[in-house]
Amino acid sequence: MRIYRVLSCVAVSLFAAVAARAQNPTAIEWSKPFPPHKIAGNLYYVGSEQLASYLITTPEGHILINSDFEQTVPVIRASVEKLGFRFTDIKILLGSHAHGDHMEGDAMVKELTAAKVMAMEQDLPALRKMMPGNKPHPIDRVLHDGDEVTLGGTTLVAHLTPGHTKGCTTWTMKVRDGDKSYDVVIVGSVNVNPGYILVGNKDYPQIADDYVRTFKVLKALPCDIFLGAHGNYYGMTAKYAKLENGGANPFIDPTGYKAYLDEREKAFYANLSEQKQKAGKGN
Ligand SMILES: [Zn+2]
Repeated sequence: MRIYRVLSCVAVSLFAAVAARAQNPTAIEWSKPFPPHKIAGNLYYVGSEQLASYLITTPEGHILINSDFEQTVPVIRASVEKLGFRFTDIKILLGSHAHGDHMEGDAMVKELTAAKVMAMEQDLPALRKMMPGNKPHPIDRVLHDGDEVTLGGTTLVAHLTPGHTKGCTTWTMKVRDGDKSYDVVIVGSVNVNPGYILVGNKDYPQIADDYVRTFKVLKALPCDIFLGAHGNYYGMTAKYAKLENGGANPFIDPTGYKAYLDEREKAFYANLSEQKQKAGKGN
């Protein structure tokens, strides 16, 4: 009887975990399909309406940035196939940062493609806790600030841009489109989420300093094509609509990149000074 109770308890909690995942309203809401599209050269958008995922195609297979929620993986797969590429040709999986909406699907993508999963060292503890369906989070290569990831003639550079998470990663690459070459920046995140503790954070004492450093790093990056972990960082929906109308490539937006960083930096400092005041430390 006791064993039965223990077993049924395990069964109930397993069921609850599965049900919780299946009913994650954010995952369902954020995974709505969005038309996949070419950004420039060998760089494509294959994410959902809310969650940005990028496919970089090469003659030796493809790189995917962001598996998103597990619920988003079939949406990404359909987008890759709609563009005429094979999901199973994905050889490398990268991510923006260790939050479920960007990297929860890593184990599932690895199961489907056998891709090598690479992640920033400082995000590993958070990623190891990310175990949908109790699957261990795959890590095939540990990345450090400035590391390069190369496949089939394309090289991406991993920039450590911490604050939002300890290993938050901004990806840069050069993309050739026709006879031109563009600097691409895929911002990991500079948002201070609701509830983030910037002052006296015991788990992450240097969080505010990390944000300050990250803004400096991002401002110094050359950027023609401005992208990010969520489409709303760079006005993806509006730019996609412009793409449909033809004309100049709307994703080439160095001014938008600078304006975005300025606006987010101001928001960060406003939040920081409010938290300092509440903590009685003044400005
Ligand atoms: Zn996040």
